[in-house]
Amino acid sequence: MKYIGAHVSASGGVFNAPINAKEIGANAFALFTKNQRRWQAKPLDDLTVRKFKANCEKLGYSADQILPHDSYLINLGHPETENLQKSRDAFLDEMQRCELLGLKYLNFHPGSHLKKIDEAACLTRIAESIDWALGQTQDVIAVIECTAGQGSNLGHSFEQLAAIIEQVEDKSRVGVCLDTCHMFAAGYDLRTAEACDNTFGNFASTVGFDHLFGMHLNDSKGGLNSRLDRHHSLGKGEIGLECFQWLMQDERFNGIPLVLETIEPEIWADEIQMLRRFELGEAA
Ligand SMILES: [Zn+2]
Ligand SMILES: [Zn+2]
Repeated sequence: MKYIGAHVSASGGVFNAPINAKEIGANAFALFTKNQRRWQAKPLDDLTVRKFKANCEKLGYSADQILPHDSYLINLGHPETENLQKSRDAFLDEMQRCELLGLKYLNFHPGSHLKKIDEAACLTRIAESIDWALGQTQDVIAVIECTAGQGSNLGHSFEQLAAIIEQVEDKSRVGVCLDTCHMFAAGYDLRTAEACDNTFGNFASTVGFDHLFGMHLNDSKGGLNSRLDRHHSLGKGEIGLECFQWLMQDERFNGIPLVLETIEPEIWADEIQMLRRFELGEAA
């Protein structure tokens, strides 16, 4: 079964996210557990945690269907010691928030070298940051999102994702989230079923589906290998609908959150309906 949803608002409190997800007919969702553009957040209080868990249970969302996303400020590969520690502390806080909420995953962007250290050193730093945070938490899985490769951001190739996982000690608690817009912008073609076969065949042999814990379903405003992180609504961008039909027909994407981050929240319900029709084998 496919878990399909969107990155919904948690405005007013994290407990509103499952309500917002239900309203668009989603059986999965993503959320920020704090303001994604700030370093600090007040700790989650007991009542908030209880309300979140109660709403998830009442509305039918288990931890397998929820993919929290961390703050955009965090850079686990930061070249400077002081800033690296600031990022690590913030990342650990995000992981602990997930644990408090009973969540299983934490989705994050791997990091960037800011042209101050080389790629390999940055990937090692990211792996060390993950180890550091996993060592202080019980069971949340670190889910590395592939990037569009804009600027000095790493994680835009399957080889880089594999290199991070390779260096993480506890392989049972690290995996990836593939964002279709980012993949395409980074040079992985997804425009036809044949292109999807090739791209995900490459993924299977480089990283492996046992490490795939989520997907972000987005069309792309930028072209193939444009390195532009510009999302679009499904079928309105450069990728097109065939990719999403192909994904919905492939069982390797069952049982993990498949999350829309498309740019028109007002049509998320329609996009989810369309994906469900694709899952049933209907044409676009
Ligand atoms: Zn992201
Ligand atoms: Zn994404």
